[in-house]
Amino acid sequence: MPRTTGHTHVTGDPEELHAAAAVRLGADDQRYTSGRRALVELLADAPHPLTVAEVLERNEGLTQSSVYRNLAVLEATGVVDRVVTEDEFARYELAEDLTGHHHHHLICAGCGGVEDFSVPPDLETAMDEVFHKVARRSGFSVGHHRMDIIGWCATCRT
Ligand SMILES: [Zn+2]
Ligand SMILES: [Zn+2]
Repeated sequence: MPRTTGHTHVTGDPEELHAAAAVRLGADDQRYTSGRRALVELLADAPHPLTVAEVLERNEGLTQSSVYRNLAVLEATGVVDRVVTEDEFARYELAEDLTGHHHHHLICAGCGGVEDFSVPPDLETAMDEVFHKVARRSGFSVGHHRMDIIGWCATCRT
């Protein structure tokens, strides 16, 4: 079984994470407001990518309109990634190159739930070799990969 992990404690120092987020926003003339900082904090602590509804449940001080607006800015500036799932609710997580935490997702086609999982380093290396081989045939140069698994969670499969 793949190991399930959260996003936390990857960069070690949360202040480093905030500093890196501020730099990305600043490169696009955007300020690292308290609302945006609250979102980065929430996503850093979450065990899986969050929907807007889950963000609002975890921080009742945030308003839906500001969450939507700030997530759009954070996504556009590369602080946050949107995870594509099987349902209509977008999910967000911190960008991998910000956290340094490379991982994949188990996406449930039944309930839309998403779990993070990591692949052992030797398997990541083996996968990368395959991806490079495949890409080379098309003259394509690999930057990084994304790979999610779609299926049914333990609850939905029964
Ligand atoms: Zn499910
Ligand atoms: Zn990988």
